[in-house]
Amino acid sequence: MQLVLLGPPGAGKGTQAKMIVEHFGLLHLSTGDMLRKNVAAGTPLGAQARTYMDSGQYVPDQLINAIVEATLLGPDAQRGVVFDGYPRTGNQAQTLDKLLTRLQRPITLVVALEVNLEDLVKRLSGRRVCTGCGAPYHVKTMPPLQAGVCDACGSPLEQRPDDQEDTIRTRLDVYHRQTEPLLDYYGKQRKLRRVDAGQGIERTFENLQRLLEGGQ
Ligand code: AMP
Repeated sequence: MQLVLLGPPGAGKGTQAKMIVEHFGLLHLSTGDMLRKNVAAGTPLGAQARTYMDSGQYVPDQLINAIVEATLLGPDAQRGVVFDGYPRTGNQAQTLDKLLTRLQRPITLVVALEVNLEDLVKRLSGRRVCTGCGAPYHVKTMPPLQAGVCDACGSPLEQRPDDQEDTIRTRLDVYHRQTEPLLDYYGKQRKLRRVDAGQGIERTFENLQRLLEGGQ
């Protein structure tokens, strides 16, 4: 299975992707996570990507397409992939289609996670992430037992630089202009399904699971 999760920042793509991976045994391909690892490790790619990321803009297509291609050609991708945060532009979507056609593993399904704008802003501004293991928290809806400390590994939690209120607005605007047209692109290919992702993590996953197991 080659599954694409589409949706604005804060829709829960990362959280749902992790649950899908556990349940269906796919590879989780998150371009955002890959970029953040490169930034943390101080690689040349990380240095190039950082300014774009911190200001909420997209990293140039050719950089992103190259890291995705390298991953898809590797052995881990053979078992199937859930794409989280990629593709995000028309160029990326076309590049992915070409690559997957070449590999004879076309996209199975594209799922759009839908959440209203007000909830997205609340989710993103309250989001905290563990600096050790990457576990996600939310100051109101999913707080850790001890404020600022990860329940799982004890490391401090932090707010992503791009989760500041100003940058959130930019990211939502960039999504609207550059990524939303992909709904049409995949709609025309008859691969698009929409899932209400505004009802909590478990309920959303149940809906997704039903869809992936062919129930609707
Ligand atoms: P995410 O964790 O998916 O929200 O990604 C965080 C940031 O990484 C985005 O705001 C972009 O700056 C960058 N990024 C991640 N994936 C992509 C992509 N497919 N194309 C361009 N930029 C990306």
